[in-house]
Amino acid sequence: MNSARHSSPAKLGKNRQTELVALAGRLGREKFAPRAEKYDREASFPFENYDDLRAQGLLGLCVPQAYGGLGADFETYCLVSAELGRWCGATALTFNMHASSALWTGPLADDLEMTTAERAELESLRRAHFRRIVEDGAVYAQPFSEGSAAAAGKAPFGTVAAKVEDGWRVNGKKIFASLSGAADYYGVLCTEDKPDRSMRDTLYIAVPANTAGLTITGDWDPLGMRGTVSRTLVLKDVFVPDDAQLMPRGLYFRAASSWPYMFLTLAPTYMGIAQAAYDFTLSYLRGEVEGQPPVKRRMYPTKQIATAEMYIRLQQTRALFERTIAEAKVNPSKEERLRCYATQYTIMENANEICRLAIRTCGGQSMLKSLPLERLYRDSRCGSLMLPWTAELCLDRLGRETLYEPGETDE
Ligand SMILES: Cc1cc2nc3c(=O)[nH]c(=O)nc-3n(C[C@H](O)[C@H](O)[C@H](O)COP(=O)(O)OP(=O)(O)OC[C@H]3O[C@@H](n4cnc5c(N)ncnc54)[C@H](O)[C@@H]3O)c2cc1C
Repeated sequence: MNSARHSSPAKLGKNRQTELVALAGRLGREKFAPRAEKYDREASFPFENYDDLRAQGLLGLCVPQAYGGLGADFETYCLVSAELGRWCGATALTFNMHASSALWTGPLADDLEMTTAERAELESLRRAHFRRIVEDGAVYAQPFSEGSAAAAGKAPFGTVAAKVEDGWRVNGKKIFASLSGAADYYGVLCTEDKPDRSMRDTLYIAVPANTAGLTITGDWDPLGMRGTVSRTLVLKDVFVPDDAQLMPRGLYFRAASSWPYMFLTLAPTYMGIAQAAYDFTLSYLRGEVEGQPPVKRRMYPTKQIATAEMYIRLQQTRALFERTIAEAKVNPSKEERLRCYATQYTIMENANEICRLAIRTCGGQSMLKSLPLERLYRDSRCGSLMLPWTAELCLDRLGRETLYEPGETDE
């Protein structure tokens, strides 16, 4: 390959990183947390939160600075996302879908091997994509799930794009499309329609929300993460021009193979939820929850043991989170790749466990819908279901890859 790799843009400095996390925290505490109950109850999309994110320039968080964005690297994105997740899980999770569209085509893509022609194509495609986010305030969804092995990364996507003159004709169905009805663009992952369909021919295409042939179907009344409004997208003979591609042909497959951290971006939301459940437990046991009688429950040894357990679990989770996001890079070593799966598993499972302990420890009144804990508990349950790295699939990969080297068999 006539190879050209950009050097990755420098990581943001610690001060800038801290400023962005503080901005997310301020928005979350003052605006998102008070609204979270309503979006959860109605299972409605947090439009007002997105207006706030837009007003603060945060929609362009992962757009490189050269294109007018805030230039967040992977680690900064994860820290900001975890802070958003502390205040509103559904906002953080949907923000992940949007921000990933810039993370994948920006700093991640810069790390990949590409020909000079591919590099030039990427530049022209992403310039338009970043401009829509930065100048028009556009919001992107990231529908890839189809209810098949494709979302697990084990088969080509069943949604297909046939090459036609000047563009692509897309047909298929996507389930669980968070931001359905709210996004301006749907970043659809699909397979080029060829006789031998292959995962190598995955295309990443931005379908504008108002395109003919794109419809949203089904209801949305789930256990948790209700504000994500993740309904079904049907694409029937949807035409998009060539420049609707977000990456040159073949690049998504290369990214998925060599930058596995791209699938870890859902976890920070749940890191934030775990922190929120712990924070709530402390306030509740200290009798400091706003609007509640100032009843203290902290003097009971069993409560103290439970909060100690929660603290230890939270610190274990946080330590793994911080280590893994700091070492994220292209072509990680085997050890780093395994740690990635272990991190995803730990965050998703521990978030739910910390919420469970929080409810058991705080007691019956704490699970009333007038308080946020039961929502945190329901939201946290969704983490380990998220493909491609569900808790089960992380165990699957870890079990196999710890014991076998690539290509090894027992024959
Ligand atoms: C709140 C929420 C928001 C979501 N938002 C989005 C979104 O915006 N975009 C998007 O694309 N998806 C989204 N998803 C979907 C999510 O990533 C999964 O695709 C979805 O939960 C899978 O459900 P399923 O019943 O089809 O899983 P199935 O495919 O039926 O799998 C069930 C379980 O079996 C295991 N499994 C699956 N495939 C394999 C395999 N090949 N080998 C071994 N085990 C396997 C996994 O552990 C999986 O959890 C969202 C999900 C939730 C809960």
